[in-house]
Amino acid sequence: MHRIFHLDSLTIDKIAAGEVIDVPASCVKELVENALDAGAEDILIEVQLGGRELIRVKDTGCGMCREDAVASIERHATSKIRCVEDLEKLCSMGFRGEALASIVAISRVRMTTAEKREDACVCDGTTLVVEGGEVKSVADAKALPGTTVEVKDLFYNVPARRKFLKSPSKDTHDIIKTVTCLALASPQVSFRLIVDDKEVIAAKKSPSVVLRAQSMLKQPFENGIVIDYQQQGFSLCGIIAEPQGAKTNRTGQYLFVNGRYVVSLPISYAVKSGFGTSVEQNKHPQFVLHLTLDPATIDINVHPQKREIRFADEEWVRSLVQETVSEAMFGKRSFYFPKNQEQETRDEWPDLPQSMPSEGQEELFSFSEARPQGAPQGAGDVLAVLGQIALIRKTERPDSLVLLDLKRAMKAILFQELMSAPKSSTAEVLLVPITVECTQDEALILSSMLSDFEAEGFLIRMFGSASFLIEAVPHALQGVDVKAFIGEALHSPLLLREKNRESKALRLASLYVSLMKNLSPPISLETARAIYKAYEAGGCPQLSPDGLSCASSLTDLHLKDFF
Ligand code: ADP
Ligand code: MG
Repeated sequence: MHRIFHLDSLTIDKIAAGEVIDVPASCVKELVENALDAGAEDILIEVQLGGRELIRVKDTGCGMCREDAVASIERHATSKIRCVEDLEKLCSMGFRGEALASIVAISRVRMTTAEKREDACVCDGTTLVVEGGEVKSVADAKALPGTTVEVKDLFYNVPARRKFLKSPSKDTHDIIKTVTCLALASPQVSFRLIVDDKEVIAAKKSPSVVLRAQSMLKQPFENGIVIDYQQQGFSLCGIIAEPQGAKTNRTGQYLFVNGRYVVSLPISYAVKSGFGTSVEQNKHPQFVLHLTLDPATIDINVHPQKREIRFADEEWVRSLVQETVSEAMFGKRSFYFPKNQEQETRDEWPDLPQSMPSEGQEELFSFSEARPQGAPQGAGDVLAVLGQIALIRKTERPDSLVLLDLKRAMKAILFQELMSAPKSSTAEVLLVPITVECTQDEALILSSMLSDFEAEGFLIRMFGSASFLIEAVPHALQGVDVKAFIGEALHSPLLLREKNRESKALRLASLYVSLMKNLSPPISLETARAIYKAYEAGGCPQLSPDGLSCASSLTDLHLKDFF
């Protein structure tokens, strides 16, 4: 007795619909993406009761002729690709020809569409009525050019799906998030979202992603840092919020790859690493970033709602993202400490990060920020250590206190040492050399960079075909994970591309400093004094390499009342 039967097409469509349209927000996403693919400049979205009662998407796109309107609701019917090779150069949001087929299978749809005509305002168009996948009517209609798709009673014939729907308010929330993402992806298009007769989103056409992000997401991006980096085959544009805007979850992260909102943990991590230590370990920076790559180097066909993506060379994309963010955050020259600081004020320094991370302690105790003029100069003594902050009394100004962030000061000193010549005098010969095993590719890169490392105070010798001995490292008060440093240096595309010797040295030095091991409290008075001494000897650098100020001063105190 045979038990295998072919499912009828309506059943097949309903099952398949579950993949594409799992929640009302997916239906909104598909309809809006179709509007975008149709070249619409204005998109109006209305929803009622979390989308289960009504979803209506009206666009000013190219519209469809009658034959196309009827064909559009068939499964695997699309105008966007002809063959699988077309996926390699895909520029549209849709390509599977499944969305409308899925939506009409599980709801009651009325679609009105009219093709654009140069001379006419109201055109001859078509209204198509479909219920549960069955075409009920196809009729003439007068309509403005564009398409309106009205979806009622979503999931009315899929009781299983209906049972698992979340609350209307959760679905509404998801729809708002979906439209927000779509609007951030296409700033040149105007979006309006009306939820239960109330306007929730009104995004006018905007000339740039940054302006759209600022007008839609407001506060975290008002003082954000603009990213605008392009090179062949890669571009990263958008805005990142200041580090203190970091959140405990990733809801403030909007990543778009070739115009499509995607969730990518590797890229999210790469952005965070670009922030260096300015974002706490368990926090996530907020950003709106558009990544553009050659479509042939990504695969978007890995997720039913295309929310995930695969990169042909993920490592390459990750490190470019990280370095671009890091460069925008800290700038090249912000790492550089002019020897003659007394004549400079921080405001006049070129290329500083556009927004300086705030000083936690300063906010707490409202200390004035030490300008280079006010930076500790001359002799002083460490009175006490609080966490990683040393309280210092200056001999020549007994009525003021200097608060020195020991960790930042150490980074600043180390960086300064790395950047100053001659290197050999600062090199520290290791009693036990560190062995680094490389792949053949890495070995080639490392051997070509030996002189760059030497200029920083390293002594690295090749032995065997792909092994190296690190015999000396730049002198450091605190250890640096040298192996990690070499590894990172060999995989940093920006460093490898750098031709200019000085910039190369700058990059190497900042990388080295960023890998300095943590100075963990309690810090003894002796250690603090040693660091302060080195800090003074180094000319009291004002900023640590990540752009944070090393010292604050508290003036006009009646210190004798305290000590
Ligand atoms: P896909 O977008 O993957 O092609 P859909 O089922 O979403 O599949 O749509 C099928 C086809 O219907 C599209 O390829 C497009 O030609 C047409 N279409 C759908 N929505 C619109 C619209 N709003 N305006 C113009 N054409 C549309
Ligand atoms: Mg589509």
